[in-house]
Amino acid sequence: SPIIELRDVSFSYEGGPDQDEEMALSHVSLKVGRGEFVGVIGPSGAGKSTLASVMSGAIPHHYRGALYGATIVDGNDTCEVTLTDISRVVGSVLQDIDTQMVASVVEDEMLFGLENFGVPHDQIEARLEQTLRTVGIEDLRDREIATLSGGQKQKVAIAAILALQPRVLLLDEPTAALDPASSTLVFDTLRKVNRESGITVVVIEQKVALLSRYCDRLLVMSHGSLALDGTPRQVFAHA
Ligand code: ADP
Ligand code: ADP
Repeated sequence: SPIIELRDVSFSYEGGPDQDEEMALSHVSLKVGRGEFVGVIGPSGAGKSTLASVMSGAIPHHYRGALYGATIVDGNDTCEVTLTDISRVVGSVLQDIDTQMVASVVEDEMLFGLENFGVPHDQIEARLEQTLRTVGIEDLRDREIATLSGGQKQKVAIAAILALQPRVLLLDEPTAALDPASSTLVFDTLRKVNRESGITVVVIEQKVALLSRYCDRLLVMSHGSLALDGTPRQVFAHA
């Protein structure tokens, strides 16, 4: 079964469809398979971040508005389980990682999540070391987050979520603030995680050429609808 399934999902921040209103999401149906590396593209305002909010359970749990259809995450309807339950399956790295991260030192940032998730104390150190190694940031463990480069910060944000061992890593424009070299390093990390741990990756990204080198599948959003869904090759044949 798919790890995430949207069944005819529509959403309006305003509370309901009227004549003039364009829905932020409109009749979106899709399935994300376990272990896939999925990219989401489309112009500003197309509904990409809203789609991410649906997949992460933030909608319906954090947003008012009108939601139609159903979103199934690891077999559960997101309307019927808590946000905490969903977050154990879908780990989100938000667009603004500076507001997502709460600690000042890298190690503390990772410990915060592990303790919050109730990981037994005798497992925390191993989990922390393993994750730092996977992401390749062992040397950053004792650093102040504020002193890190954008690329390093992004890796720390990814590591902090990855340590919680979600099934899906969902990222909203992880390279927005990064130069091309750092962007490539972040995507190399995502590919490693995807291949070695089998974690499903869903990533919203503006850098389409970069994204296309990594993802198995591209979702193209336009005016709240899923306009295209296929391999990068299939999508560009239509573009
Ligand atoms: P992006 O295109 O990268 O998603 P936006 O500039 O569209 O970024 O949105 C930035 C933030 O503002 C997001 O948190 C989004 O939810 C919020 N936002 C976007 N459009 C509106 C709106 N019409 N009313 C209120 N908040 C909005
Ligand atoms: P994208 O991520 O592709 O830029 P969004 O999902 O942020 O698109 O936005 C889709 C639509 O929903 C846009 O019309 C945007 O203005 C609107 N929107 C986004 N966030 C909010 C919000 N918090 N409140 C009201 N409208 C929003």
